[in-house]
Amino acid sequence: MDNIKTDGEIEILRENALLVSRTLAEVAKHVRQGVSTLELDRVAEQFIRNNGAEPGFLGYNGFPNTLCISVNNVVVHGIPSDYCLQEGDIVSVDCGTRMKGFYGDSAYTFAVGRISPEAEMLLKETKESLFKGIAQAVQGNRVGDVSNAIQSHVERLGYSVVREMVGHSIGRKMHERPDVPNYGRRGQGPRLRDGMVICIEPMINMGKKEIYCDRRDKWTVRTVDGSLSAHYELTVAVGRNKADVLSTFEFVEEVLNNRN
Ligand code: MG
Ligand code: MG
Repeated sequence: MDNIKTDGEIEILRENALLVSRTLAEVAKHVRQGVSTLELDRVAEQFIRNNGAEPGFLGYNGFPNTLCISVNNVVVHGIPSDYCLQEGDIVSVDCGTRMKGFYGDSAYTFAVGRISPEAEMLLKETKESLFKGIAQAVQGNRVGDVSNAIQSHVERLGYSVVREMVGHSIGRKMHERPDVPNYGRRGQGPRLRDGMVICIEPMINMGKKEIYCDRRDKWTVRTVDGSLSAHYELTVAVGRNKADVLSTFEFVEEVLNNRN
């Protein structure tokens, strides 16, 4: 249940985490008005395969693609399609890899061209809440300390935390125990131990927390009130004094900064 990884396993998880991070940077190069979400999916699939790995999501519980691409009021699990991104959209891209028997899993929400100041703030603060959560991922703390750091950061701003979907441990399976919810109480939940590897992934709505799943495709999750939703995810190994962040947004942000 504690799900402790060996140093060797953590290094393979790091390889996966870095490949996912680089894949998201490839996607970042193509995020612009007019590109279809299916084109972004092809870019990611090709890049992952060229690097000797397999897409982690493709076929996972029957998911049809490499990326989950979730635009505006779609929270998560959006299926790539011929929809072309438009200026002002926000687009969450969640990516998984599988290599050497282990998984990688990371997500980033992009702005397409100029977005509203309100949307800009949602992205900035959702990402900030992720780093607040990561700061709590140290031995001796509990999962609830991570959860509460995220929840208290975003609720203070009037945003809400999706309840139905949560972060998770990762290893030979993409979703392992324990879960890492984005809401919870300090000092509650499983104890964090050195060598646990967890994906922390706040899914934050600008409006109310309620969501629903598309009845036709059985995947696409949207906000009930139609409000925007953001999603960022990194993989971290719990450390004695500090989390070891295995994935990174550095590559993505280098691409984005060079465009500005
Ligand atoms: Mg993910
Ligand atoms: Mg995940």
